[in-house]
Amino acid sequence: MPIKTIIEPFRIKSVEPIRWTTRAQREELLKAAHYNLFLLPADNVLIDLLTDSGTGAMSTNQWAAIMQGDESYAGSRSFDRFRNSIQDITGFKHVIPTHQGRAAERILFGVMCKKGDVVPNNTHFDTTRANVKFTGAEALDLVIAEGKQPASTHPFKGNMDVAALEALIQRVGRERVPLVMLTVTNNSGGGQPVSMQNAREVAAVCKQHNIPLYFDACRFAENAWFIKLREPGYENHTPKQIAQEMFALGDGCTMSAKKDGMANIGGFLCTNDDLLAQQEKDLLILTEGYPTYGGLAGRDLEAIAVGIQEALEEDYLRYRIASTAYLGKAIAAAGVPIVQPPGGHAIYIDARGFLPHIPSDQFPGVALGCELYLEGGVRSVEIGTLMFAKAAQMDLVRLAIPRRVYTQSHIDYLVEVILEVFAHRGQIRGLRLTYEAPFLRHFTARLEPIEAA
Ligand SMILES: *Cc1c(COP(=O)(O)O)cnc(C)c1O
Repeated sequence: MPIKTIIEPFRIKSVEPIRWTTRAQREELLKAAHYNLFLLPADNVLIDLLTDSGTGAMSTNQWAAIMQGDESYAGSRSFDRFRNSIQDITGFKHVIPTHQGRAAERILFGVMCKKGDVVPNNTHFDTTRANVKFTGAEALDLVIAEGKQPASTHPFKGNMDVAALEALIQRVGRERVPLVMLTVTNNSGGGQPVSMQNAREVAAVCKQHNIPLYFDACRFAENAWFIKLREPGYENHTPKQIAQEMFALGDGCTMSAKKDGMANIGGFLCTNDDLLAQQEKDLLILTEGYPTYGGLAGRDLEAIAVGIQEALEEDYLRYRIASTAYLGKAIAAAGVPIVQPPGGHAIYIDARGFLPHIPSDQFPGVALGCELYLEGGVRSVEIGTLMFAKAAQMDLVRLAIPRRVYTQSHIDYLVEVILEVFAHRGQIRGLRLTYEAPFLRHFTARLEPIEAA
């Protein structure tokens, strides 16, 4: 192909204005938000990279499908389309709709886990970990060593350490491991992919011990694209074939449709096990809704049925992964320390490397996030000492890219903002806490800048 520029594979039919503020206004707004970007009214954010969850733009086909939503309480046509679309990709026998991913997790672990159990994962996402713990079971992370090293450029940093999995099962006994999970891509590990080879090896260990394997499938399409790009033998497979091959290795999955479902709300739980499906549907009725809507409107089911197929389109994935990499490469080339290689949905800046003069207990990630907002109205999220307190191994600032929302000029603007902040990084000061909640403190914490001595 002679033309190298990768363009947004869509044209824009409906626009949502974003609002400029002045630096003086942002100083006031930040102060009023107690230097916590979660407390900012979103209208005062120019480029919002807080999360890629539920923040994507829907396509004309999704909006058209929404008009076809069948809101019948039971047995709706929309559910049939939702189930058929998901089964086409996953092949799983039972498809149970939920209002988002965590509801699928709560039901799955509620049915499968009990006190004393251990659930291995490459890396548990926060809600996954919390829902495992809620049943009294232990959530264990078994990602490969490279997955914990920010500078390692291993192509599949999301892989599970298969030897560690085998050793764990030997140590605690099969009875205490009700299921194994693989998160694709590995969100908490920087959006890093899992290879087909690794999934196959994990599935083999599971099969040998007769333990079900479930995928946390939130970014299954992005993971499939990385396999196509990086794993020998998959160059000529379609993303859909790759996704189908991976799902065929498992017994079920949990999914947040707010990610690769390309929807603003929704999720689902799949299983091949008839008995479990019955128990799961019983729980679903208790808190989510009847099994043909599970807490969603018929129109949401339609949006997901269409969106989950669009997430596998090659033009979309090529643009998606290239635009994330474009941001990562541009700032890394200028010396900004980031988690390498760029993941699928986000770029993570290493705030300790960016602001070496700010000790961890003065929240370098929060300081950097505040400065990006002051400089250019950009909102990011700290993943570090504010979020995890003393357990934080790194202080990262995550720039999560919503799907199909921002264009290359937005990304160019963002690069400029980051590099401007990088140029005056020596003047950035740390912060101290003035209020913290007893748990999940990052959502509501209040801080203030530490004055120069
Ligand atoms: C977002 C996410 C979840 C939870 O999904 P929600 O829809 O936010 O409840 C679970 N696992 C991973 C990997 C995620 O990224």
